[in-house]
Amino acid sequence: MTAGRGRPVTFDEPAQAEFLRLLADGTRIGEAADKLGISRRTPTQLAARNRHFAQQLADAKDRGRTARDRRVHGLVATYNNHACRCRPCTAAAAAARRGHRAATRDDTTAQVHPLPVAQPHTATTKFSVLADVS
Ligand SMILES: [Zn+2]
Repeated sequence: MTAGRGRPVTFDEPAQAEFLRLLADGTRIGEAADKLGISRRTPTQLAARNRHFAQQLADAKDRGRTARDRRVHGLVATYNNHACRCRPCTAAAAAARRGHRAATRDDTTAQVHPLPVAQPHTATTKFSVLADVS
């Protein structure tokens, strides 16, 4: 291997550990790669030349499959936390959004999640920025 050539090391050991953790948690390979900003092929390529990583990858995939099988579908939590877009989870998320809209339609103070309170200076800043355009 020639020093200074080739791509920079982005799939270092911490990234590998995080990738394996995501996979074992049930995250799909493509999604895990996207989260780490690496190519989907990178882990496969590493596994081809690193027997130890290949074994870890296979184990993580197995555990991920089990994790996905154990998921309870038809829940907003599964839709949100595991990005499951199966029909029951999507329906649950849609129903929750409809319910939230219905519940908050006539109540301007109702909040499912606390929202950040707009700071007065934000508006002022925007207007001063606009005012500076001359
Ligand atoms: Zn689902």
